[in-house]
Amino acid sequence: MKEQREFTCIRCPMGCRISAWVDGPDVVEMSGATCKRGQEYVREEVKDPRRTIITTVKIEGGIVHMLPVHTKKTIPKALLPKAMQELSKVTVKAPVKCGDIIVPNILGTGADVLASRDVEKKN
Ligand code: SF4
Repeated sequence: MKEQREFTCIRCPMGCRISAWVDGPDVVEMSGATCKRGQEYVREEVKDPRRTIITTVKIEGGIVHMLPVHTKKTIPKALLPKAMQELSKVTVKAPVKCGDIIVPNILGTGADVLASRDVEKKN
């Protein structure tokens, strides 16, 4: 059954509002996307919504108490709450280099969680 859905494209800061007619996993018609990336975003959002995680984990012995981390690639949107729960249990030890793998293959998604900055040891 066809239904109309509204989206805000998150592929660039323009944030275009896109209106689409959706039939199950298929996008039948859409308007409002000002470029191809927006059309791809809506198709992916309907079929297999995915997100990059950007958050922090605890770090011990460093010059800061929290380490910013991100996933190297997107993971299914439905797994975000569970992934955030897993990351809330993680504590790493300083020093850490930007790009270090903090959690490999989180929840079996194939996405590694990487450090987003260097953190030196506290003297
Ligand atoms: S549709 Fe294109 S221009 Fe509009 S927000 Fe998405 S990426 Fe940016």
